[in-house]
Amino acid sequence: MQLEFFGAAGEVTGSCHIVRAAGRRLLLDCGMIQGGADAPARNRRAFPFEPPSIDAVVLSHAHIDHCGRLPLLVKRGFRGPIYTNAACADLLPILLRDTAELAMRGAERGNRDLAPGEEPVMPLFDTADVEAVLRQVKPIPFDQPRELFAGITVRVRDAGHILGSSSVELWLTEGELTRKLVFSGDLGQYDTPILHDPFAFESADLVLMESTYGDRRHRSRDDTERELGGILAQAARDGGNVIIPAFAIGRSQEILYLFARHYAEWHLARWKIFLDSPMAIAASRVYWKHPDRFDEEATRLRAGFKGMPPLPNLVLSETADDSRAINNIRGGAIIVAGSGMANGGRVLHHLKHNLSRPECHVIIVGFQAPGTLGRQLVDRLPEVRIHGQRVRVAAQVHTLGGLSAHGDQAQLLRWYDSFKRRPPVYIVHGEVAPGEALAVKLRELGANATVTRPGLQVDLSSLPALAADRPTA
Ligand SMILES: [Zn+2]
Repeated sequence: MQLEFFGAAGEVTGSCHIVRAAGRRLLLDCGMIQGGADAPARNRRAFPFEPPSIDAVVLSHAHIDHCGRLPLLVKRGFRGPIYTNAACADLLPILLRDTAELAMRGAERGNRDLAPGEEPVMPLFDTADVEAVLRQVKPIPFDQPRELFAGITVRVRDAGHILGSSSVELWLTEGELTRKLVFSGDLGQYDTPILHDPFAFESADLVLMESTYGDRRHRSRDDTERELGGILAQAARDGGNVIIPAFAIGRSQEILYLFARHYAEWHLARWKIFLDSPMAIAASRVYWKHPDRFDEEATRLRAGFKGMPPLPNLVLSETADDSRAINNIRGGAIIVAGSGMANGGRVLHHLKHNLSRPECHVIIVGFQAPGTLGRQLVDRLPEVRIHGQRVRVAAQVHTLGGLSAHGDQAQLLRWYDSFKRRPPVYIVHGEVAPGEALAVKLRELGANATVTRPGLQVDLSSLPALAADRPTA
């Protein structure tokens, strides 16, 4: 009975952990490594296991750093079931098909000017691999134990991070010995709009816990929302447009939901609000389909409007023509568009048309990686390049820090604090410094905390049995 760390050990991305128990091999997540010049090469490397030897995958949620290498796993011979909840299963095709298409277009571009004898670039995977993944997905319900194999039972709980994000409980039994593992997945903030709070676990023999913001304190959500309202009021006085680069899944829905919640207070009826991203529109439709994942307030708002995001003046821009039509609007438009870091996508056109106009506002609502246009705007460069053209930045750029989809240090500790008997913690999904900072705080709570590294193995059978609960599937 063993756990081995492979991805997201000592870093944020590439989530993948290997469980060996009851004669089976299981993966928790199979995510893509993102950021860093060597990421493409690392993603292509052989897995430290034979993909056909894996019996099943349990997927925590539909972010690319958790699910992005599933098509590669299947391409290399994995044929088993991929278990996840139904909302995650519905978001998965949107995300993986887009990723495959980007990879294929990238390879095509790279192969255009090949020198004689030069090896053609192959995409990491293609859409056929993605369709194969989707055929292997087996949705499982939230909150109900499910026996995957003799001796292996799983139950998924809400993690409050994006729609369909889960923490995973896993009971492993060999003979008389049972051990319970809890994998946090990515944990949301406790008062995230739309979603339930992260589930409060009481028992485990071992905890795998994310640490993305293990050393940080977020600005309070109330302050952040007040700031957003203030920016929109100023933007209305200035008379230009507002551009919000936003990730298609999660952040786009959250922003529009905040607009709905503060619709009267922020006088939003005077704006025309555009969601200009086919992927975000598709993701919003998945949100509409899963009201069971909504918290009380979102359930109330949805009931009054019969849709999510619930906004009367929302325009969904599906086609490229719809998107281009927005370019003629000089003022009174709030445009939510991807990509979230403005390193591609439709938002580039809107920035090109509005950045040089001082009456316009850009609101940055998510993490911006170094080297992206979004980061250049955060860093207040006076001039940027878009589609090869120089664009002067005269618009007012605002960075809103408090909308993170991840809990901060205090919230991570609150999540762990619900475990009564202080099970040992293995810290994953964070850079080393935040991981170490979180470990110090967890030890103060009485936990034996270890920051993981790739290849680290834990013998689960040698752990003391703390969790008395057993699944009753
Ligand atoms: Zn995530």
